Amino acid sequence: MSEEKSLNFLEEIVENDLNNGKYKSIITRFPPEPNGYLHIGHSKSICLNFGLAQKYGGSTNLRFDDTNPITEDTEYVESIKEDIKWLGFNWSNEFYASDYFNQLFEFALTLIKNDLAYVDDSTSEEIAHLKGTPTEPGKDSIYRSRSIDENLQLFIEMKDGKYKDGEKVLRAKIDMTHTNMLMRDPIIYRIKHAHHHRTGDKWCIYPMYDFAHGQSDSIEKITHSICTLEFIPHRELYDWLIEKLNIFPSHQYEFARLNMTYTVMSKRKLLQLVEEGHVSGWDDPRMPTISGFRRKGYTPLSIRNFCEKIGVAKRENLIDLSLLEFCLREDLNNTAKRAMVVLDPIKLIITNYEDGKTEELHSENGPDENMGTRAIPFSKELWIEREDFMEVPEKKWFRLTPGSMVRLKSAYIVKCESFEKDNAGNVKAIHCTYFPDSKSGNDTSGITVKGTIHWVSVPHAKTAEVRMYDRLFKVENPAAEEGDFKDYINPHSLEIIPNAYIESSLTNATLDDRFQFIRKGYFCLDKDTTKDKLIFNRTVTLKDTWSKVKG
Ligand code: ATP
Ligand code: MG
Repeated sequence: MSEEKSLNFLEEIVENDLNNGKYKSIITRFPPEPNGYLHIGHSKSICLNFGLAQKYGGSTNLRFDDTNPITEDTEYVESIKEDIKWLGFNWSNEFYASDYFNQLFEFALTLIKNDLAYVDDSTSEEIAHLKGTPTEPGKDSIYRSRSIDENLQLFIEMKDGKYKDGEKVLRAKIDMTHTNMLMRDPIIYRIKHAHHHRTGDKWCIYPMYDFAHGQSDSIEKITHSICTLEFIPHRELYDWLIEKLNIFPSHQYEFARLNMTYTVMSKRKLLQLVEEGHVSGWDDPRMPTISGFRRKGYTPLSIRNFCEKIGVAKRENLIDLSLLEFCLREDLNNTAKRAMVVLDPIKLIITNYEDGKTEELHSENGPDENMGTRAIPFSKELWIEREDFMEVPEKKWFRLTPGSMVRLKSAYIVKCESFEKDNAGNVKAIHCTYFPDSKSGNDTSGITVKGTIHWVSVPHAKTAEVRMYDRLFKVENPAAEEGDFKDYINPHSLEIIPNAYIESSLTNATLDDRFQFIRKGYFCLDKDTTKDKLIFNRTVTLKDTWSKVKG
């Protein structure tokens, strides 16, 4: 990206804070809740937090926000770490909010001792009822006037397991008539007799998000705590708690979350897709998860460039998936190795080519000469794409039709002489003659043709399964449509070609390789590949076909 680009609003804030001497260096954090796999929206937050620290010589913590024992799991912790590393970022410290449970408990005691928190025995319905509405003030709970000593005793008993789930909560004592509903004595601790993936059965009370997040920021001396817009109303509580506890003054800043067309982005919805079997798992190549994009063949650079390109907005918007695909093509076009693969084959027979002869031809691996060339075997019988032949050509048809000439990529010019059909009337084979003096790189034939097609030599071809992925949803914003978002799943989001013909060099492909199957799109090896069966995923088409469909 160009250096002269103007600063985004967060960079402006950071530069100001550094120039004014407010901080010597900055610390940011990425705070995922380990209750699902990371999605492309998270990569925006990752690029932002790690990017700011990188740009200004600061550091970034990875903090697992694991204060909810019910939904969290170590599988998620591991996947999150893998995804961040894959995106190209390194954290300075790996922290867990659950490591702060003792400290958070102490903070709660401090609030109680200062008469700033109380134990409430009301049911959740009673609490909701007394809370009021945005236009009506709330009312004090009858437990609000409990003495400090009683509150201390009850809170310790809560911690010691004397009460059942929901029997009591700890609330901050702020103002039941506050204009900000979140300031109306928010709950800061609840009882939950549940096993936690790290602290086991040590705790049966757990802090609420608002009482864990800001305090964890403060414990880690986070200077700029960046979150999404829905947390704007929480900022007042964030500041209140830090002020009352008199701890390191972290500050919260908000930006618009990334939403993208033709997908859903909440972990809850993604979990439904996985659990109900609409996809094969969190890393299904159709999922908007980082692991899904990785398996589909996306590169870390393309995702980072995408996040850079969309910038940092202060208002919610829906980003076109085409922009991500554009960034991907930009990267792959320069780096992907070229290969020839025939997805829907018919046979081309060169009648004037010697039976049983094999020639070793060479084809360039990519647009950059440094990528070199690879050997490809050529023989009398070739597989070509069915769609490259037309019995009755349309206007401006430059490919095969009786009497026409085309170049076989990196090989010879051939002329179509005739064709054969099977009993069902489908074209079965095409008969051509070739011009021996028209070899690519050494063409003295003087013949010019307008079309070039790809091919694979029949006796040398290997086979592979090719998985053609398309968008998971039929509509731009499934979550905003009427009814269930799953009603809008694209039934054609995966089409499997069981037996494509591939050039033999592809049998050496590794999971890290990226390919352009010439004229067909970008592809990569899938992890389901076995010794006996190669499987390729389509990463993205060569061109943006969807924009065309939409007109
Ligand atoms: P979801 O709603 O998808 O479950 P979340 O916000 O609950 O997401 P967290 O694990 O709490 O998920 O998020 C970790 C960080 O990533 C938070 O700072 C959050 O603000 C940020 N984040 C989550 N989704 C997006 C998004 N779509 N765009 C930008 N940042 C996001
Ligand atoms: Mg969350």
